[in-house]
Amino acid sequence: MGINERVFNFSAGPSMLPLEVLNDAAKQMTSYNGLGESVMEMSHRSKEFDEIITTAEANLRDLMNIPDNYKVMFLQGGGTLQFSMVPLNLLKNSQKADYVITGSWAKKAYTEAKKFGDIKVAASSEDDNFTYISKLKQEDFRADADYVHITYNNTICGTHFNEVPDVGDLILVADMSSCILSEEIDVSKFGLIYAGAQKNVAPAGMTMVIMREDLIGFADEKTPVYLDYKIHAEKDSMYNTPPCYTIYIAGEVFKYIKSIGGVKEMHKIDVAKAEKLYNAIEESQMFKCPVKKEDRSLMNIVFVTGDKDLDAKFIAEAKSIGLINLKGHRSVGGLRASLYNAMPVEGVDALVDFMKNFENENK
Ligand code: PMP
Repeated sequence: MGINERVFNFSAGPSMLPLEVLNDAAKQMTSYNGLGESVMEMSHRSKEFDEIITTAEANLRDLMNIPDNYKVMFLQGGGTLQFSMVPLNLLKNSQKADYVITGSWAKKAYTEAKKFGDIKVAASSEDDNFTYISKLKQEDFRADADYVHITYNNTICGTHFNEVPDVGDLILVADMSSCILSEEIDVSKFGLIYAGAQKNVAPAGMTMVIMREDLIGFADEKTPVYLDYKIHAEKDSMYNTPPCYTIYIAGEVFKYIKSIGGVKEMHKIDVAKAEKLYNAIEESQMFKCPVKKEDRSLMNIVFVTGDKDLDAKFIAEAKSIGLINLKGHRSVGGLRASLYNAMPVEGVDALVDFMKNFENENK
């Protein structure tokens, strides 16, 4: 492969970014807008960086239709730090929270929250290896819970909430790390949404938090300063040095999504890509998707041959033709293709062709 040729990277994250964005960032690498310095070198207090972060936030608000009574924060610490920040800030009355366990990330969020309060599993799909999303009713949640936590898209198991659960008047918190900006969301149904950048938005290093304003300001006074949303909200994500370069690339990705018609158009492309792959799996005798049809993710498509050696052969041969990172998560095995926003349709076509050839050759 020549040095300028690109592979199709099916990684669950960090993952592909739009080529247009990468090319543009490359052009701007040593001198951003002719200023003679890279965004990497720029003071976060400069007028130029202020413009970058302000525009990024405005475009994210526009793309997601974020209501005015929500704060947007660009933080560090990944999705993982949110597993702690959420309970530290939202356990404010009963100290109770209910978690829906739909996979390993949901479980990690739950395990972390347990350090801080009375945390209950409202429902779990572990009984069937997280291959479905539990049907939820308002009665599944404690009426006095301070919040309910869900993982909207389950990166490892390939499931997704295809409707927002009805939690009544309770505050709904959602981890949207692996699906943000791939579908239209009614933000007003959530008290807090968080998402790491490294799948649909930017390189690793930044987490977006979208939080209803009236929920801010309840962290215990002993809460470490970085973990208090109030500090970040008051200072517009500039309390300390933010992840400047990741915010810059995120801003460029937001502009790119707007340029193709916004989240609605992005979603149509994502649906078309996922359908191609799911159909290929359905038509095949060799590959199977263990996930219940109605709960399947558009972003992370999990499939298996049922034979470990055959899976390994598939992964190695795919890699040799530039289709990389098709291995399932180490905890579940099998195969997984992550088709995030920036995966070109051509990548999915190439994968489907390869699957057909592989099946014919290994009957
Ligand atoms: N939540 C989900 C749904 C994820 O997929 C991931 C990472 N793949 C995380 C949380 C953890 O994110 P981070 O590695 O940024 O801490």
